[in-house]
Amino acid sequence: MKTVPSHLSLSELRRYGRHLTLPEVGEPGQLRLKAGRVLVVGAGGLGSPLAMYLAAAGVGTLGLVDFDAVEESNLQRQIVHGTAAIGTPKLASMAARLRDINPNVTLELHAVRLDRTNALAIIGGYDVVADGTDNFATRYLVNDACVLAGKPNVYGSILRFEGQASVFDAARGPCYRCVFPEPPPPGIVPSCAEAGVLGVLPGVIGSIQATEAIKILLGSGDTLVGRLLLYDAMEMRFRELTLKKNPGCPVCGDNPTIRELIDYESFCGTQPAADAATVSARELAGLLARGEDVVIVDVREPFELEIAAFPGALHVPLGQIPARAGELPATSTLVLACHRGQRSQKALEILRGRGFTRLRNLTGGIDAWSREVDPAVPRY
Ligand SMILES: [Zn+2]
Repeated sequence: MKTVPSHLSLSELRRYGRHLTLPEVGEPGQLRLKAGRVLVVGAGGLGSPLAMYLAAAGVGTLGLVDFDAVEESNLQRQIVHGTAAIGTPKLASMAARLRDINPNVTLELHAVRLDRTNALAIIGGYDVVADGTDNFATRYLVNDACVLAGKPNVYGSILRFEGQASVFDAARGPCYRCVFPEPPPPGIVPSCAEAGVLGVLPGVIGSIQATEAIKILLGSGDTLVGRLLLYDAMEMRFRELTLKKNPGCPVCGDNPTIRELIDYESFCGTQPAADAATVSARELAGLLARGEDVVIVDVREPFELEIAAFPGALHVPLGQIPARAGELPATSTLVLACHRGQRSQKALEILRGRGFTRLRNLTGGIDAWSREVDPAVPRY
């Protein structure tokens, strides 16, 4: 850690009075915030409350990454921007607002699209990264860069009425890849632009991210490391899942295969290899309804079953398929299933290599089952 300044000015003592009153913060904590450097990726819905609360709290240096311009349709949720800023760069609009909130904060503006060529250099300059992006390619990029650079990644995501947040810190717990080993196939998960998002939702999730970033800088409290917080605005309910580090994780596991940044667009844009041995969710429902000799083998992780499960399925996580292949009924048709169909394709290939012949992969996984067959099965 860098040197922490030794005292606050008179104006800072006045400004941060309500922090200084808190024994858990006090002047030493406020000085830590002042010495802190946080990178906010994205000046949008999550970035708005994130950057505004971090600036107001007195985080000394805020890095901001964005390359977009403000559009009218942003204003329903991206509250750092105002109507007068429509058509101007988001970075300039956000910077003006943050300077007004707290002129003591040093802003470092990165008017770029984060990619494999610049991510490590930018992220390496900060203590904490707060990810306010809205696409999978950037999310995996931010995750891998944070793991490689040894930085905590304060994660949040939102869609429709639901949001989630966690802190991915590979030194202390799982990373994003440990939890989400594969990106969804392109087009499967709609964007907020396609599916909509409640305007206040990023206010809740972005504020949680700001809280976690501040706690990390203070070095106090119990952060979301190893926990995924799920928020449902419609039910007004928070749930929490325990996340485990995956020793086989390709970036933070025991034998990492990702040692430098990869091409994230192609990683997230690649469709699984076409294979005749597939079955759609609707076809599977038909096979089950007709009483065909079909056994669903769900290869997802146990925590995913807590969220959504197939009725009557055998459960063997992908990592245990080689060791437990002998438990599977070789005379039935095995339908391999996972979240969205990519891990189950790997399981199918492993079993095919072991001599199984009656194998089908469920296209789109339990997500397709929920969308096409049984909407009562929760999506995640
Ligand atoms: Zn990992």
